[in-house]
Amino acid sequence: MQKYHPLMSSSDRKIDHSLIDLLAEKVTQEFGRRFGRPATVIVAAPGRVNLIGEHIDYNDGFVLPLALDRYVLIAADRHPAESNRSSIQLFSLEMATSETVQLDQPIEPGNTGWTSYVEGVIAGFVELGATIPGFDAVLGSNLPLGGGLSSSAALEVAMATLVEQLTGKSLERDEKALLCQRAEHRFAGVPCGIMDQFSSVFGIADELMLIDCRSQEIERVPFCSREISVLITNSNVRHELSGGEYAQRRAQCHSSLTKLNQSSWRNVSLDDVERARAALTEPEFRRARHVVSEIQRTIEAALAFRSEDWDAVGKLMYSSHDSLRDDFEVSCYELDILVEIASSIGSAGGVIGSRMTGGGFGGCTVSLVNNEQMESVSALISEQYESKTGITPHCFFSRPARGAHVIRK
Ligand code: ADP
Ligand code: MG
Repeated sequence: MQKYHPLMSSSDRKIDHSLIDLLAEKVTQEFGRRFGRPATVIVAAPGRVNLIGEHIDYNDGFVLPLALDRYVLIAADRHPAESNRSSIQLFSLEMATSETVQLDQPIEPGNTGWTSYVEGVIAGFVELGATIPGFDAVLGSNLPLGGGLSSSAALEVAMATLVEQLTGKSLERDEKALLCQRAEHRFAGVPCGIMDQFSSVFGIADELMLIDCRSQEIERVPFCSREISVLITNSNVRHELSGGEYAQRRAQCHSSLTKLNQSSWRNVSLDDVERARAALTEPEFRRARHVVSEIQRTIEAALAFRSEDWDAVGKLMYSSHDSLRDDFEVSCYELDILVEIASSIGSAGGVIGSRMTGGGFGGCTVSLVNNEQMESVSALISEQYESKTGITPHCFFSRPARGAHVIRK
């Protein structure tokens, strides 16, 4: 578990800066050591967590994420003019490996390593007609890799922000997020929705984003209360199962919607689902009930945030978890245990609400917790989870943070 310094209250904006400053120092030092000159550009892009609206991004639904105060940073500098090299030299502190991307030949998907995300972004800019200069870069991150908090999108968006600086080709923000999403689809082979890259680009301190996955519009939802933060608990398990669960859920949602005779889940009510029950298989019925109720819950949660009705927010988070566990069947023993512990601590102990977040079958839970009780809540969750599962979880907290930005140019 992360140790909390008593002065590092997450309601204090300094925490945001001290974490990112520390990382900036690490990447610039490494850059100087490796390349023998200072980095001239430093950029940052955050990971994200989704508060509610799960498995409905591909069902015309809504998501309600926030950008985390955890970032991927890149320190970089163009190759000196005399070097005449048309390549990118990259070093990742987390991977502890150096890689090269050649710029004098077409960049095609196929590489399976971490540079595929970089290549996807570079290829996107090349398609837009940008000329990419050769450069050196060191990247570092304080996001868990592969933990469901979208370090991959943070890496893509940081790289796109860097390329904008190096080429002078600035994109509209939604264009930039979509370019990064295409990189993830084509070069990493992950058919993600728009939430990850949109959150990393558009994140604003003290705000959630209600993203309409049908229209791709973002509504800003203030998260002003300085007394409450988001606690992320990584279960540190990942059940791969057959690997086809995600595709199967999508197929079940699709066939269910077809049987309901509708083209969008937005036009379906819970009554419609009940009335069509006989025509649906049991899994189709349950998936439909999750999708329709989760769309409703996400809209209600945004409203409850606006009116700071924490009781309502908490109830919606717990019902979202129940629905994902029982109707969508994407939770697992460890996630259920984490949510049960959080719920047993309850509002008297500082927990407003809790649920699994992300695709499921492992990964993280997200909870809303009163700052004053953050340390005791984290300690209790860690102790009880470890005693029940034998696994040590990883906890950290965050406030909604700023999206991708340039730290030095
Ligand atoms: P998530 O996005 O949930 O963290 P993914 O599997 O989608 O999980 O993305 C993780 C991958 O992103 C890593 O395996 C690596 O290839 C790449 N990545 C993320 N951060 C870094 C980093 N700091 N250095 C190198 N690669 C990174
Ligand atoms: Mg990812």
